[in-house]
Amino acid sequence: MPRLRSALLALLLCVIPAQLHAQDRLPERRELFLALNAVVSGVYAAVGAATRDDGNVLAAFAQGAVGGAVTWSGQRLIGDGRPAFRLPGVQVAALGANLTRNAARGVPAFSDLILPVYPVYLRIRPGAEDPFSVRVSGLAVASLAWASLGADRFRADLDWRESLFTGGPVFRSTVSHLYPSGPLPSASCFNGNGCDDAVAGIHWLGTSIYTTGGRSEAASRRIIAHETIHLTQVHRDAILFGVPASDALFAHMEGPFAWIGEVFVIDAFLPMTGLNHALACTLPHHGGESWRLYEFEARAHAGR
Ligand SMILES: [Zn+2]
Repeated sequence: MPRLRSALLALLLCVIPAQLHAQDRLPERRELFLALNAVVSGVYAAVGAATRDDGNVLAAFAQGAVGGAVTWSGQRLIGDGRPAFRLPGVQVAALGANLTRNAARGVPAFSDLILPVYPVYLRIRPGAEDPFSVRVSGLAVASLAWASLGADRFRADLDWRESLFTGGPVFRSTVSHLYPSGPLPSASCFNGNGCDDAVAGIHWLGTSIYTTGGRSEAASRRIIAHETIHLTQVHRDAILFGVPASDALFAHMEGPFAWIGEVFVIDAFLPMTGLNHALACTLPHHGGESWRLYEFEARAHAGR
């Protein structure tokens, strides 16, 4: 069972950690990710428009692309590194995904906004009969449980201050290095220069862990910024796919099942995150480094 758990953890984390021993720098340019965000978001919106009789594919592509650029801008804010910029950056990135989702649905850009305010989604629909609604994110609860259960492995405690600055749970570990999967190394590996597979920070589906051992405050802050970029990646996927899929699931349910959908969002359908994991785990490694688009995107904004 421990072996199975380690294998599962390794699979889940294979693209997430900030690897310390990468050999080769693959594309980590911000401009590349501005273009990628704009194109992927534009295509998402255009596909949505193409499925509607009254859809304007070109207009949807344009608005979707703007949404992608706004998400990138939020990530830039986080990458600046200043704590005060972090939460605004997270919400600007989420706003961008909302603009894209609304473009795909053919509704006004700001008419339906889903903002992740941990551990809930705040939904704002100006002018609607019920303009504000709040639902608990199933993913947020699961992610926090994961970090809490792994407290021994990560030797980490909840950092309330950094969590408030981030808008999501951030755990602080006073060791130098973490080992997200596999058997735990000897005690000395947690400090100094670390051992094989050491990472400085971890993000898993909403929850971040950062290390402070042997680092300056600025260096630790950079790790948090990097992990927070991963948080925006999860939000982007949830707003574009996870929340709409949950809504579609509960739309036709009645009785107690419908009630669950009013209280919770089962935001488990995250295809972009899944694709990222799949590419990282299956494509051949290049120069000692796997193809991890999420990792490159985080590095583009916040460094390693
Ligand atoms: Zn990373």
